[in-house]
Amino acid sequence: MALQDIQARIAAAEVASGRAAGSVQLIAVSKVQPLERVVAVLESGHRVFGENYVQEAAGKWPDLRARFGAVAVHMIGPLQTNKAKLAVDLFDAIHTVDRPSLAEKLARLAQERGRCPKLFVQVNTGEEPQKAGVLPADLDAFLASCRGIDLPLEGLMCIPPEGEDSAPHFAMLSDMAAQNGLAGLSMGMSGDFEAAIAAGATHVRVGSAIFGARNYAN
Ligand SMILES: *Cc1c(COP(=O)(O)O)cnc(C)c1O
Repeated sequence: MALQDIQARIAAAEVASGRAAGSVQLIAVSKVQPLERVVAVLESGHRVFGENYVQEAAGKWPDLRARFGAVAVHMIGPLQTNKAKLAVDLFDAIHTVDRPSLAEKLARLAQERGRCPKLFVQVNTGEEPQKAGVLPADLDAFLASCRGIDLPLEGLMCIPPEGEDSAPHFAMLSDMAAQNGLAGLSMGMSGDFEAAIAAGATHVRVGSAIFGARNYAN
C-alpha cells in the first residue's frame, strides 16, 4: 500500500541526507479521510496520525484507540483557545502554538495536569497574511515569553506558501530552531517531505500521498 512506499521513501531520504535511520517520524494526516482508509493504515501497524480539527478528532480517536491500543495523534491545524482543554486531553502533540493567549492557556493546563503534549511553535515563514503562525521577526520574543511561563517546547513547524519552492522555507525554519536550541522540526507534506528531510525535518506530515485525495464534500 501507499504507506509502505512513503516509509521506504523516508528511509531513502534519511540515508541520502546522512540522517540516522528512524530519525524522521511519519505523521499520517488522516483529516477528512473516510474511516475505512484510516482503519487500513492502523491495521498495517502505523500508530502516528495527524488531525486538523478538534471536533473531528474527538469523534474518531477515542473509539480507534479503544480498538487499536495506543495511538499518537498530533494536532496540526489551527487551535482555538476555547478548545485548548479538549486538545490537551486528546492529543499527544500540538504543532500550532502561535500566539501568547494560547501559550498561556496551555501552560495553565499543563500545570494543572502535570503533563503536556509535545508542543511546536508554528512559524509563518512566508509571512502570508491569511496564514497562522508567528512571524519570523517576532519569534525570539515569542519563544522568550513561552520560556517565561515554563511552557516546554519541542520545536518549530511551518507550512510553506503554496506554489513556491519549499526548500528555502525549510532551511529558514531549521536555522531558527538551531539558533533557539530547539530539536524538533515539523515540516514537509506529500509534495515535499524529501526536501524537508534533507533540511533536517524530525516530523513529516503526509496525508494525500498515503490516503489518497481528500474529499471535503463528504
Ligand atoms: C492537510 C495537512 C497536511 C497534509 O497534506 P498533504 O498534502 O495531504 O500531505 C500537512 N500539514 C498540515 C498542516 C495540513 O493541514
